[in-house]
Formats: sequence, C-alpha cells, structure tokens
Amino acid sequence: MKVADRPSPNHAPRPAGIEIDVLVLHYTELPLEESLDVLTDPGRPLKVSAHYVLAEDGTPYRLVREEHAAWHAGRSHWRGREALNASSIGIEIVNLHGDRHDYPPRQIEALIALCRDVIARHPAIVPRNVVGHSDIAPQRKIDPGLRFPWRALAEAGIGLWPRDGAGPVEGDIQAALQGFGYPPPGDVAPAEIVKAFQRRFRPGLVDGEADRETRVLLGGLLDQVGAGA
Ligand SMILES: [Zn+2]
Repeated sequence: MKVADRPSPNHAPRPAGIEIDVLVLHYTELPLEESLDVLTDPGRPLKVSAHYVLAEDGTPYRLVREEHAAWHAGRSHWRGREALNASSIGIEIVNLHGDRHDYPPRQIEALIALCRDVIARHPAIVPRNVVGHSDIAPQRKIDPGLRFPWRALAEAGIGLWPRDGAGPVEGDIQAALQGFGYPPPGDVAPAEIVKAFQRRFRPGLVDGEADRETRVLLGGLLDQVGAGA
C-alpha cells in the first residue's frame, strides 16, 4: 500500500534481540494535522509518537520505522510483559470524537490492509497480540474506543473475537483475564480490568461486573488460545 512519510524524531533503538510481537491500536482524538504535529514534536515535556497514523481517508503516514521503538504505549502490560513500546508496533487512527462517531469504512479497510502488512513482516504478532491501548493500560486509556470494529478486524484475520457457543469462565475472573493477557489489578481496581475487557468485547455495557455474558465472551476467547495450558 502507498504510505506517506512524515518522520518523527521521537523514537529509540529497540533492545538487542527483542522480537516485535505486539500490535497496539489507538485513536488520536485529534484531527490529522494536529496529530502529526504532536507525534513528531521533539519539544514536548512528554514526547510521543507512533509508527503509523491512519487518516480518515485511509492514507497511512509513517512516522517511525518499524525497526525502532515508538513512544505510544506508555506504562503497559500484556501477557506478563511490561513497557510494551520495546516490542510493539503502534498505529494511531485519526478519530476526533472518541466514542461518539463510527470509524469510516474506508479508514477501516485501509487499517486492515496496514495491519496485514505489519503482521506479514512480524509473524510473532499472533492474533491474541493485536490489542487496543485500553487492553494494555486499563483505566488509564480508553482508546480505540467503544465504536472500534474489533469483530470486523477479527473476521479479516486481525485479532480475536469470542467464539460462539463457548461455556462461561468459572471461578476467578481476574485469573481468567490474565490468562488471556490482561494485566493483574495492582494500582488499578479489579473492576477496571473487567471494564477494559468489556470496552472491547461488550461495548454496550461497560460496568465492571463479571456477569455471565462477560464470562461467556471470555470463555469464547480462551477456547481459541488454549489459555490455562
Ligand atoms: Zn493510545
């Protein structure tokens, strides 16, 4: 696909020998030009960047080369690992109003193509390791938001969606969430981890309650990853 270059100085070498195995999806909450400005600005107290910014018209901008670490994840955790900038690729999707308006189909088509390219270059990015910022930084982050079409992406082979007909996860919901990849509650309340899960897999009701539907959805994911094993 055609990619526009807009290099950002905000990056670092990846630690020697590290494998790129996580893909993190974000939304910008800012218009395209403002997003590009922020993500390429070396003068901010908190320097940020991403590997790609995806415009609403579907144009991908490349800010940081994939061999470098971009600064998009911050304090983060997935499948027992922390500080995921070192091992991840970050895509910022332009979306002005967060949870208030749908992503345009054209943008999502382009996102699927971009994700496919990234995953083809880094096959260690297994479906389970395609995550939202909200998955890896519960409570602190809510992007890519309640309207992000995770199911459509999973149907295109990017990320996972719960399998129908699974049984509910029994017992300790936190242990099961960690079995999929979510961080343990620590400085974040246990209900916030449940909310992070619901934000992605049951956006219609994000209440932090580990109810039956939540447990069934989680069961339908764990079925696919053989967690517990
Ligand atoms: Zn983010």
